[in-house]
Amino acid sequence: MCGIIGISNHPEASNLAYLGLYSMQHRGQESTGIIATNGKQYAIHKGMGLVADVFSEANIAQLPGTQAIGHVRYSTAGSSSMQNAQPFMINFSLGTLAIAHNGNLVNAEEIKRKLVNNGSIFQSSMDSEVIMHLIACSRESELIGRIADSLKQVKGAYSLLFMNEHQLIAARDPRAVRPLVLGKLKDSYIIASETCAFDLLEAEFIREIEPGEILAISEKGIKSYFPFPAKKMAHCIFEYIYFARPDSIMFGETVYDVRIRLGRQLAREHPVEADMVIPIPDSGTPAALGYAKETGIPWELGLIRNHYVGRTFIEPQSSIRHFGVKIKLNAIKSVIKDKRVVVIDDSIVRGTTSRKIIKMIRAAGAREVHVRISSPPTDFPCYYGIDTPSRNELIASSHTVEDIRKYITADSLGYISSNGLKQAIGGQDCFCDACFTGNYPITFPAIEQANQPALF
Ligand code: AMP
Repeated sequence: MCGIIGISNHPEASNLAYLGLYSMQHRGQESTGIIATNGKQYAIHKGMGLVADVFSEANIAQLPGTQAIGHVRYSTAGSSSMQNAQPFMINFSLGTLAIAHNGNLVNAEEIKRKLVNNGSIFQSSMDSEVIMHLIACSRESELIGRIADSLKQVKGAYSLLFMNEHQLIAARDPRAVRPLVLGKLKDSYIIASETCAFDLLEAEFIREIEPGEILAISEKGIKSYFPFPAKKMAHCIFEYIYFARPDSIMFGETVYDVRIRLGRQLAREHPVEADMVIPIPDSGTPAALGYAKETGIPWELGLIRNHYVGRTFIEPQSSIRHFGVKIKLNAIKSVIKDKRVVVIDDSIVRGTTSRKIIKMIRAAGAREVHVRISSPPTDFPCYYGIDTPSRNELIASSHTVEDIRKYITADSLGYISSNGLKQAIGGQDCFCDACFTGNYPITFPAIEQANQPALF
């Protein structure tokens, strides 16, 4: 869960990177940073927190140059700290190199252990630093060869940006788990995690970075390399369900359209007599619209979200019930009172938020609360870059749908089926759905151990 952006050949590279990161804030809120270069020197600014808080006009002015890469972080490997904020830079035999990474490597610890035993020193706990070490240790003479050499040794999900004084280089793992797209703004090429960044910058979306492609952009133009053997694609299905912005075009489709279809499919699989459909904002909104369109049940905004909730808030000493959820969402009594409502969300992870929201809807006077979820039960953790708790914290790994219904106190509960999900997404066999099925496309020994059935 991270967002990355790279800008080439633009006089305001760092300003565009900042705006691109702003549009991809949903991909990570822990830390953010930009490194820019003018072809001779580098300038860097990083900080903990949101893009709008970390960057100011003054510090963007301190990032001159025509090339920049930027990052927003939500940690899935390594702790949340300044040390782990990206992009980061190294100096090695070929000069300076900066990196920004979205994804998660599954064999980073193993490689790191070997490197450390051989005397390597690490500055962070990020798996991305392993990639840089392997580049520095490679015997290849050219940078592209070294990057390919490094990436051949790592396993997992990576959408990457590298930058030196002369080149911006993008790389995507052969299964293309995480998104990465190429755009153009006049003479400038832009690479981003999501196309919503192009819309803000008024850049044209050209294409996705291909699975296993390394794309180098320099004054000479753009050049593609395909150094890895082809693998079966495994795009992250959860990007479609929850993570990506609905206005982005991803894996060939607008995310919003996919979510509407998920809602329609959910309605076909789990219809119910009700007076209104209510989304849990924002994650359930497009699927709720799809559900309403399919069933003809009116759609209402029964829950209102406060969009300005930060990370921390000072709770009063006298306890307020369900404080954490209430500060973010509030139910409109006049809409909900005495009504039979179908509440739509994208997923249930631990079940704690859903339980609190349903209690809130009941407290607002709902007569019946039916919950519909636009993904199958989340039964397995993700090892490829989505932040999920360990298996024994996932309620679906140890409880039946009926147990979960009771726990969240719903009158009925329905999840979209695995087949329904596939059908709604278009029927292609190019997605990773391991969080629902446990079919991990990239395996490693720890997965088998970690995914023993939860002991309850
Ligand atoms: P829970 O109370 O743990 O079941 O949380 C369910 C809510 O978390 C749903 O509204 C989802 O939209 C949201 N959600 C699902 N996956 C994630 C994730 N990886 N990070 C943050 N929120 C998530």
